[in-house]
Amino acid sequence: RGDGLRYRRVLLKLSGEALLGDKSFGIDHGVLGQYAADVKEAVDAGAEVALVIGGGNIFRGVSPQGSKMSSRAHADYMGMLATMINGMALQDALEGVGLDTRLVSAIDMNEIAEPFIRRRAIRHLEKGRVVVFGAGTGHPYFSTDTAAALRAAEVDAQVILKGTRVDGVFTADPETDASAQRYETIYGAEVIQRDLKVMDLTAVTLAKESGLPILVFNMNRPGTFARVLRGEPVGTTVHW
Ligand code: UDP
Repeated sequence: RGDGLRYRRVLLKLSGEALLGDKSFGIDHGVLGQYAADVKEAVDAGAEVALVIGGGNIFRGVSPQGSKMSSRAHADYMGMLATMINGMALQDALEGVGLDTRLVSAIDMNEIAEPFIRRRAIRHLEKGRVVVFGAGTGHPYFSTDTAAALRAAEVDAQVILKGTRVDGVFTADPETDASAQRYETIYGAEVIQRDLKVMDLTAVTLAKESGLPILVFNMNRPGTFARVLRGEPVGTTVHW
């Protein structure tokens, strides 16, 4: 299985905000359905897919809402619970297209998700199950980007795939600057030095220490996820 794939075991990070689609709050089921179909295409091609989902569409610790809480930690725990709501929605969409899934939470909530046990998570992947990691790292003061780098390292993923709404990393913000150029590859040191917004610094540092490349691509273009796995020249690869 997985012949012809450039990347066989991958960690896909999806932001909570992406689940908004055109809505201002909550979850757009059209977006969920497209993501599920794209993951199915990859699994059918033989890829082992683990997912980390954010929570920004529902609640963020570092946000105007979050800052009104009595403590950052309290707000961050609310943010982690938000990722579990997205994780359950994503799990439902993935099962809807016929995939086997497991939702794994970094905070114990055994009625709805498994606890994170590294060897067990790897076993699920080996059996072709899509593993959705929720509740971030389980710790406040971190982000789901950092959870993505952490889980990618733990399950021996070959790459962190950051699914975004832009085509990769650009010389400037492509949504506001028409002259912005996409990098095909870029060194992590340059990402850090030029403060290019790929993932937060904690996540980037962890990826670097684990020697994990980060590939940024447009998840909102149907079929792009599988193209990335086949090694087609889409997105931007950050390497070390
Ligand atoms: N969060 C946290 N620890 C983690 C992961 C997430 O405290 O390990 C909290 C944090 O408050 C964050 C929120 O969960 O703002 C939602 O995650 P994030 O903002 O990373 O989601 P995204 O931007 O990907 O939608």
